Amino acid sequence: MSGANPLSNPSLAAASNIPSVDRVLNLPQVQPLLAQYGRTQVTATLRKHLDALRAKALTGKLPASEIEEPLLCATLGKQLTEASRLHLRALFNLSGTVLHTNLGRALLPDEAVQAVVSALTSPGNLEFDLETGGRGDRDSLVEDVLRELTGAEAVTVVNNNAAAVFLMLNALAQRKEVIVSRGELVEIGGAFRVPDIMQRAGAKLVEVGSTNRTHPADYANAISARSAMLMKIHCSNYAISGFTSSVDVATLAELARPHGIAVTVDLGSGTLLDLAQWGLPNETTVRETIRQGADLVTFSGDKLLGGPQCGIIVGRADLIARIKKNPLKRALRVGKLTLAALEPVLRLYLAPEFLAERLTTLRLLTRPQAQIREQAERLLPLLQSVLANRYTVSSEAMSSQIGSGALPVDQLPSYGLVLRADNAGGKRHGRALDKLEQALRQLPRPVIGRIANDALWLDCRCLEQQDEASFTAQLQDFSL
Ligand SMILES: *Cc1c(COP(=O)(O)O)cnc(C)c1O
Repeated sequence: MSGANPLSNPSLAAASNIPSVDRVLNLPQVQPLLAQYGRTQVTATLRKHLDALRAKALTGKLPASEIEEPLLCATLGKQLTEASRLHLRALFNLSGTVLHTNLGRALLPDEAVQAVVSALTSPGNLEFDLETGGRGDRDSLVEDVLRELTGAEAVTVVNNNAAAVFLMLNALAQRKEVIVSRGELVEIGGAFRVPDIMQRAGAKLVEVGSTNRTHPADYANAISARSAMLMKIHCSNYAISGFTSSVDVATLAELARPHGIAVTVDLGSGTLLDLAQWGLPNETTVRETIRQGADLVTFSGDKLLGGPQCGIIVGRADLIARIKKNPLKRALRVGKLTLAALEPVLRLYLAPEFLAERLTTLRLLTRPQAQIREQAERLLPLLQSVLANRYTVSSEAMSSQIGSGALPVDQLPSYGLVLRADNAGGKRHGRALDKLEQALRQLPRPVIGRIANDALWLDCRCLEQQDEASFTAQLQDFSL
């Protein structure tokens, strides 16, 4: 056997010294674990741990301290806690991107949380008409409020905006042509590419114009008996500037009307109110798009709207009826939790006076820089003391992004903490930063920042007052 001989070294343990499973299970410290996790899980975890210790003992490298009963029990407790932690976890989004797709996009207001809890724990009238006692339609739960907010005749809700676009194309343009400007054939977040979605939906894409300029005549010349619709797509995540022109919805509507073909718009974020009133960049609203003559508009529920993940289609009643009859609607429909969360969020828009306070997304987007700065300065001493001698921490101005492709070129003035590695240059500097970024990411409630220009940036915009205490509490005993 290799390694030191445990018999001649009292600080090493032999395999035969390792206590049995039964013995450990009967220790008083293990009883609370049994009560919490149950005998099945505790036994399995313990067996695995003891097997690992035995393997180590056989190489002659097992410190005797590791098989002392208090340490054994503590390790068992830690392993059980870790194994029972859910995979989807709450974290701190200090990335500077408010609607971060990988971090779950919009955060929902309390009204939505309460409604979801109720939908989870009580039966509800999801598809049950309380007036007639007959079968109801789940879309009708949000139809009135969406009609009021958008001016549209009818609505339907599906899993996300990609599903909305797909369903709309399949229901209205299968084996027909859809005319789109070359400047709007976008890819959004890898898997959503307009030409691919179009093909999968069974529609034939007819590209018109050029990347930077498309004119009314380009659409007019492409219209034929095979045309089903003229479609516009919001260039969510990129901007064309310089020598450009595109055709607006009103002009498309005029071109389409004599031919009886539909004008549809994928608005992406789909804002319901003019954001300029809160100092945010202006975006065309769903209502304006409908008023300009769009027959159908699709948009996401969890981008600027600030609701749950879903895709909303609003517009002409006859077209919505055709969409709802398509069998794919059944496959793409939303569940009760989504509708439960969506309705109260939409209702907040009926009181725009309170929106910036009550709608979480808008509250985060409109947080005043001075307030974020105060917070960053309040947090500064703690981070400085925790990271002393290894990293320099300062509070600095920075820019947040809205995210999720909304208004990609606009930046929101923000404030936060900037962490730089001390006493290291070049590669070592990079490694020290990576190590810090990783350690913050592995906290019980992970802290997600962003590395840029040889520093780790923690944007405080999305750290709301009520989360500050738990943020600082977990950093108190942070170590690298
Ligand atoms: C975001 C976006 C989509 C995809 O929406 P999801 O809700 O993420 O499926 C589609 N089109 C545009 C223009 C978008 O901005």
